[in-house]
Amino acid sequence: MPTVPLPPPYSTPDPYEPDAAKSGESISARVITTMRQSQDGGEQMDAMLALTEQMVELAPMGMVVLDIVTLQVRLANRMARQLYSRASGAPGDRLIGQRVDLLLPWLEERGLVAQLQVAARTGEALRELTLDHISVPGRVGATYWRYDIVPLSEVAQPTRDVLVVINDYTQEHVERQRAEHATFSAQLYAEKLEAVIEQIGEAVIVRDQQGRMLAYNRAALSYACNRRAVERARARGGRQEPRWELCYPDGMSVAERERPSWQALLAGTPVSTDQYCIRQENGVMLPVLIQAAPLRDESTAIMGLVITFQDITAVKEVERLKDEFISVASHELRQPLTVIQGQAQLLDRHLRRHTSGAAPLNLEVLGQIAEGIESQTVRLNLLVSDLLDMSRIQSGELRLDVAPTTLLEVLDHLIGLQRSTTLDHQFVLDVCLSEGMRDLKGEWDRRRIEQIVLNLLSNAIKYSPDGGEVRIAVEFLPEGRSIEPQHARRPKAIAGPAAHIVVRDHGIGIPHEAMPNLFERFYRAGNTVGIQGTGLGLYICRQLALAHHGDLWAESAGIGEGSAFHLVLPVQHV
Ligand code: ADP
Repeated sequence: MPTVPLPPPYSTPDPYEPDAAKSGESISARVITTMRQSQDGGEQMDAMLALTEQMVELAPMGMVVLDIVTLQVRLANRMARQLYSRASGAPGDRLIGQRVDLLLPWLEERGLVAQLQVAARTGEALRELTLDHISVPGRVGATYWRYDIVPLSEVAQPTRDVLVVINDYTQEHVERQRAEHATFSAQLYAEKLEAVIEQIGEAVIVRDQQGRMLAYNRAALSYACNRRAVERARARGGRQEPRWELCYPDGMSVAERERPSWQALLAGTPVSTDQYCIRQENGVMLPVLIQAAPLRDESTAIMGLVITFQDITAVKEVERLKDEFISVASHELRQPLTVIQGQAQLLDRHLRRHTSGAAPLNLEVLGQIAEGIESQTVRLNLLVSDLLDMSRIQSGELRLDVAPTTLLEVLDHLIGLQRSTTLDHQFVLDVCLSEGMRDLKGEWDRRRIEQIVLNLLSNAIKYSPDGGEVRIAVEFLPEGRSIEPQHARRPKAIAGPAAHIVVRDHGIGIPHEAMPNLFERFYRAGNTVGIQGTGLGLYICRQLALAHHGDLWAESAGIGEGSAFHLVLPVQHV
């Protein structure tokens, strides 16, 4: 594009001469005349100048050329005329030749004249200046201008002309103020809301209709997968949005559209579900009951969503126990009952044949039947009392009938009983007690202590199907001494002197992964297939030990490596 040479500003005839300006003749027209004269009136130049004039006139910003000496307006395009009229309330069509300090008297106060002079003197443009709140008496509202002052000088020549480019940003300013106000009130609203929901124990999250977070309480934050990052940001006075990771019980993430919040928005009605878990920051998955309900304004339009969640681990555990209970009760109770029924039928047939004279009474057969019925009745009895014990423990109704009980007496008696039940196992009692301590006593419920030891001994037999040695070791732990050396665990509850009993076998052992759950109700390790049991014994034994202010725990090097069960009970002062 060819460059358009600017007219020499003060050549003769001077188009910017104040008298000419006063005549009201268009300044652009005079520029063109000058150009024509100096350029021999080339047609191309004419077209170019006409275009430039049009561009200036129609430019979307106000453009004003001022004479810095007289402060008269030499050029004002359409936008400048409109802006003037809007700001002053006066018509904008008679600006040319007028003194700017008289047109807009308040500009003087704002230092505009000084700014014009600085720009003209230094020859450097002043950019992005602002004039805030130009209010005109008698008019509502205010005008906001942003303007640049550009001296129209040739290189290294002083100038009398400055161009002022003005943009009206009143609208932008009003919008910004409105947005700031809205943000401020939203923030205030969110803070108030947060203060209210903070008082609720349940986790609560409030979102707007676009799903953006409005407020959440501390309980909700405790479930977030980025909880620590949010807390750190808060401590620094910043803000980071918490995130909640919803997944199925198998660990799979829940898709956006499956989420209760989405469903509630979609349906426009409250949604409640207990089929999801929340994965916390430490990776632990908690089963939760989630409720999401749309929030409506007076016109019933949905304006947001409130979501609550509640940890239902305990509820799920009760459900699991109920299921386990039903399955154990139905399986374990049915088995001995079926055997008893079979034996009764056998007895009936035998007696019929005897009554009809078909066969004599066979006392040996009768004895076997009686034995079978008795052993199954014992089994039933044990099972029923285990179930009863479990519910007593659960409801806190376990009562102990304590009296001074001599430990070695109990152990001798029970080992004797167990010896008579097996030929494949050898029982060794290892007493590491000084002579004076052989009558080591505790304030215990003898029946319950027997129940614990009996359970440990019968487990040692049951889980050593190939037989082998079962060693029972007893030692005294004086006050303050821990258990040596590798089992350095001493229950916190026992501060005083204690008896430490270990029942060790060389049986099937306990898989590592089973260790944390071994003392839970109905828990059985994976390597017990084919061995009868309910998974209740160890749970009851441990609860009984705790009720005596003692403890019970297990050790095993793994499958096939045997097991050791440690029982610690407080003893009377010795
Ligand atoms: P049950 O023997 O009826 O299954 P318990 O509560 O007594 O129930 O034991 C729970 C689980 O602990 C058993 O199923 C078994 O997996 C494990 N366990 C207990 N004692 C032993 C042992 N001596 N050797 C190996 N595993 C054992």
